[in-house]
Amino acid sequence: MKVERHFADDTQRDLFALVEEIADKELAPRAAEHEHAGRFPRETVELLGRSGLLGLPFPERWGGGDQPYAVYLQVLERLAYRWFAVAESVHLQVLAAHGLARFGDDGQRDRWLPQLLSGEVLGANALSEADAGSDLEGIRTAAVREDGGYRLSGTKSWVSHGGVAGLYNVYCRTGGPGLGGLTCLMVDARTEGVLPQRPEHKMALATLPTAQVVFQDVRVDESMRLGRQNRGMLIAASVFDHGRLGIAACAVGLAQAALDYAVAYAKERVQFGSPVITFQGVGFLLADMATQIAAARALVLEAARIRDAGRPFSTQAAQAKLFATDCAMRATTDAVQVLGGHGYVQDHPVERWMREAKLLQIIEGTNQIQRMAIARSL
Ligand SMILES: Cc1cc2nc3c(=O)[nH]c(=O)nc-3n(C[C@H](O)[C@H](O)[C@H](O)COP(=O)(O)OP(=O)(O)OC[C@H]3O[C@@H](n4cnc5c(N)ncnc54)[C@H](O)[C@@H]3O)c2cc1C
Repeated sequence: MKVERHFADDTQRDLFALVEEIADKELAPRAAEHEHAGRFPRETVELLGRSGLLGLPFPERWGGGDQPYAVYLQVLERLAYRWFAVAESVHLQVLAAHGLARFGDDGQRDRWLPQLLSGEVLGANALSEADAGSDLEGIRTAAVREDGGYRLSGTKSWVSHGGVAGLYNVYCRTGGPGLGGLTCLMVDARTEGVLPQRPEHKMALATLPTAQVVFQDVRVDESMRLGRQNRGMLIAASVFDHGRLGIAACAVGLAQAALDYAVAYAKERVQFGSPVITFQGVGFLLADMATQIAAARALVLEAARIRDAGRPFSTQAAQAKLFATDCAMRATTDAVQVLGGHGYVQDHPVERWMREAKLLQIIEGTNQIQRMAIARSL
């Protein structure tokens, strides 16, 4: 389906043309094979870094593209359309750089941002723990003050880019109980005591490592603290708001891929003497998918425009994440239905997309947590 894009000028249009070319030539042909083999495509992520696609929404001064979020999210959507795991990697990288760009000092930015935005160093955000999933008050990983820095100990769960990241943003306890006692420390992965565990065996996204990371008596210099001590939740909240937009954009891309694939198949597949798309039961399914995807895309762009205008956008980000990820789950499931038995086997990508979509409803705050945030805002 032809998608109407929103760009302010020719530079943005050219950027998008470059993204389409990379997505079509470098991502699409590799996705299925790599996901089957389960190998992290570092070289593809590095290529995106060299092409400037890891730093789009950041200032040029540190190697960023100085683009509005509305443009970055349309790029992310297009990457997810071709290979969700790689788009997710870009999203993670942007989120790992977000706290640093917004809350770091110039010394920290000069040292780490260019490396993150070029892809030379991969980043990861480590919030979740065994007893701290939706409820971050349960964070137990703790940093104790010592001469000019901290001593960090604890175990983080579900760290995406765990084991391949060079820099971890670790949210840890430095004060009393509650969200007011959390601090964000940047931890260089080469530091003694940083111990990534074996990657989890996931339902999908085999190429994107997600692992526990143990921090065993890790020395962290004071210069690696992001923002003020015990104010880490401010950073986490901003990361979540932006993260929800990124996940929503990935969801739109994945849903669009499922729709386009299902439409093409339904035009070709003949039963009872007609292409199955001519049967109302199939045509209406596709019509609903197309309509919901258009609505999801509009919600994502509206939230991004509010963000780009410098206004609060938390509720809109939660709505976009909720709607777009539920839409992706439905669209990918319905795409399997449109292909019938052929949708259920690995000869076609729709069964993989259905498994991938499930993750979107869980990360950056489950969709129950989005509903809570939206309800609270009403
Ligand atoms: C592949 C993958 C990658 C991930 N990557 C990262 C990462 O890079 N960094 C990171 O920090 N974390 C990461 N996570 C963790 C993810 O953010 C958590 O899984 C998520 O926040 C949910 O936490 P939980 O799994 O402990 O579920 P729980 O919080 O235990 O929730 C269980 C169920 O209860 C529901 N629930 C919980 N509280 C409420 C409530 N108050 N009201 C209604 N329902 C509620 C939830 O919606 C869910 O359905 C990742 C997870 C996965 C699976």
